[in-house]
Amino acid sequence: MAFYNVCPFCGAHLDPGERCDCKEQQNERQQAAEKEKEAKTA
Ligand SMILES: [Zn+2]
Repeated sequence: MAFYNVCPFCGAHLDPGERCDCKEQQNERQQAAEKEKEAKTA
């Protein structure tokens, strides 16, 4: 019996109602990458 959800994005096991932070981490990484790009072009 499964009492956990599986994140469709990273496959992590989550407690019911728990939100995986993998997408947030992805966003942070994306923002960091864009900042780097800006720094290089500036
Ligand atoms: Zn995830």
